[in-house]
Formats: sequence, C-alpha cells, structure tokens
Amino acid sequence: SEETIICSGCGVPIQTSDASQTGYAPPAALDRAVIVCQRCFRLKHYNEKPDIPLQAEDFRRMLQTIGRTDALIVLLVDLFDVEGSWLLERDVLKNNTLLLVGNKRDLLPKSVNERKLKTWLKKDALQRGWTPSDVLLMNAFKSEDVKHVAAEMDELRQAKDVYIVGSTNVGKSTFINQLIKLFEGDDEQLITTSTFPGTTLAFIDLPLDDGRKLYDTPGVINPRQMLARLPQREMAALQPKKEIKPIVHQLNPEQTLFFGGLARMDFVSGEANHFVCYFPPAFKPHRTKLVNADELYEKHAGETLLSPPEKASLTDIPPFKRQSFHIQQDKTDIVIPGLGWITVGNAGAKIDIYAPEHVEVITREAII
Ligand code: GDP
Repeated sequence: SEETIICSGCGVPIQTSDASQTGYAPPAALDRAVIVCQRCFRLKHYNEKPDIPLQAEDFRRMLQTIGRTDALIVLLVDLFDVEGSWLLERDVLKNNTLLLVGNKRDLLPKSVNERKLKTWLKKDALQRGWTPSDVLLMNAFKSEDVKHVAAEMDELRQAKDVYIVGSTNVGKSTFINQLIKLFEGDDEQLITTSTFPGTTLAFIDLPLDDGRKLYDTPGVINPRQMLARLPQREMAALQPKKEIKPIVHQLNPEQTLFFGGLARMDFVSGEANHFVCYFPPAFKPHRTKLVNADELYEKHAGETLLSPPEKASLTDIPPFKRQSFHIQQDKTDIVIPGLGWITVGNAGAKIDIYAPEHVEVITREAII
C-alpha cells in the first residue's frame, strides 16, 4: 500500500529495500502486529547496536559539514552526566563560535552556586579543547531559562545560522520544542521527545527572523556511558526527574556500597572517610561489608536491594570490570558516567569501582 509505516520503536519510516539505510525492515516483518525497524528489533532482542560504527561515522561526517560553515554552534551537555555527554568530535568544530549550555540544571541541588558551576563547566570544556564564547546553565523545561539562552544565541550568532548539537539524551529535543513554543506559539509543530537514547533521528530547521535558520541535529550516544549497553526497559530508572538528593555515608575501610545492581564501590583502605552519593533515587546506596559483597551480589543481584536492573535483565548487561583509584585530593568525585557520582571527602582512600565493562569510570575535582 502507499501509506507510510512508522517504526514503533524509534519512529522512523519503515523501508524494505535497503538494509544499510535507516528504517530498514525485512519484508516479512511487515506481517507482524508490531512493526519495528531492524535496528530496534536487534536492540530489543539481542541488546546489540549493529550500526553504531556506521552511526558514529555518519555523525562525524555531519559535524564536519557543520564545521566548514560559519555558523554558531550551541553545544548542549547534561549537567547530571557531563563526562558522558561531551562530544568526541571537538576537532571538527574548532573553528566555529561556540555557546556551551549545561542543561538539566534542575537535577543538581538548588544549593549549588551558579557561578561556581559555570566556572567548573568552562574549565572542563577548556581542558577538553573546547573554547566556548559563553557558558550558560539551563533547565530546558523552564521557558525563562530557554529565553535566556535564546537571547544569548541571538547575540552571538551575528546574523549567522545556528546548529544545536550534543550527544543523545542531553535535552536537545526538549530545548527545540521550547524554542518552537516561544517563537511560534504553535504546539502543532512539536517534535517528539523520546526517553530512549538513539532515537533523535530527525533533522529539523526553524526559520529565524533574518532569513537564517536554526538546525536541530541528531545525537550519538557515548559508547563508554552506562546507557549505551543497557536494555531499553532499564533506562527509565537512570533518568532522574527531579533534584537529586545526595546521600552521605560515613564509612570505614573494608565497607562496600552497592548502587542497585549496576555498580559497586569498595572502600579498600585508608582512614575512615565520608562519601556523598549523587544517584537517581532508584539507586539508593546499599551498604555492606566488603567481605560479604561478592556473595551478596551473586545471590541477590536483581532483587530489591540490588536492583534495578531486574533479574531478567542481568544477562543483557555487560559483566562488571574493576577500576581502582587512589584518591589524591580532598573532595574528589568518582564518576560512573550515566549513573551518578560519589564525592570522596578526604585524600588517601583506595577505592575499587565495579561497573559494566563498557563504562569508563573517572575521577574529577568535585563539581559540588
Ligand atoms: P535529546 O536526545 O538530546 O533530544 O534529549 P531529550 O530532549 O529527548 O531529553 C532526554 C531526557 O532528558 C528526557 O527524559 C527529557 O525529559 C529529559 N530532559 C531534557 N531536558 C531536561 C531538563 O532540563 N531537566 C530535566 N530534569 N530533564 C530534562
């Protein structure tokens, strides 16, 4: 028939002719009650992302094209997952004017000093080779914040086009939707937002009043971030909806904290220390003795204290890898990208983190 069939996983139009292109499904798939593209099918049933390399290639090519224009780049990062949301393609965008926006401000404690946070973000950007003309913080759901960013965008763009870029899940769709509301007051043109990483496939543009355009671009997911290899059904718990309440643990060496069944921190040695945990509410830390930790995990992973994930998901999650740290400075964050972080109070602690092997755990100067 002539009608377009939409993938019920990611929303792209289904096509049955070219397996290398977006939206491909084998013809037999059209007989199923629920039709999904091959990519979503594989993701759902085998937890594999067969086209990630291709996607990363395409993404880089897209940014190269943008990098050759004289446009303003608005780069969004997720303040709750800064490490996991930096783009790895800094080199191809180094000639553009850059506005850096730290989004999801509302997830960090209200007590956090705005200026300190901006300074921290700018420093992190510079260390990674990004040179923003300005740094702003935003909650993309708040029209006041979006207006503020829009005004700064207009100031910096100097009658040029604008590209909104960022990893998957940093809030680009939410931001664009708010901009559309502000500019047009028209709800009909809203772009769908998705909680499932990897689905911002639309490339839309909005007219600006001087004939220039604002472009929304698709994102890619950082492969070293927790979400990159988690079953879809486990993703909701990783997306905090409101301000994160830090939980403090005063620990002696040879104690362990579990963060659901997705990560574990062993305080191996050092003086008694305090650990401030910033995790989504579903990952409230569970404390135990280090000597009991292996057995506890083996017996109870996927159950109440050590979930999420649910038991049925355990086989889909990459096995734990140990990453060891010797804390050199007071107030150091140990970051588990896509899950949360722990601020270690005092230098001297030796700490092991266990997390799925694709997740690259890092330390940084405390953000808060
Ligand atoms: P995109 O993949 O970059 O387009 O990101 P989305 O706009 O789809 O947002 C990803 C997730 O983050 C969704 O669950 C959004 O509801 C959420 N989100 C986006 N912006 C904010 C924000 O400022 N604060 C909070 N708390 N959540 C946000």
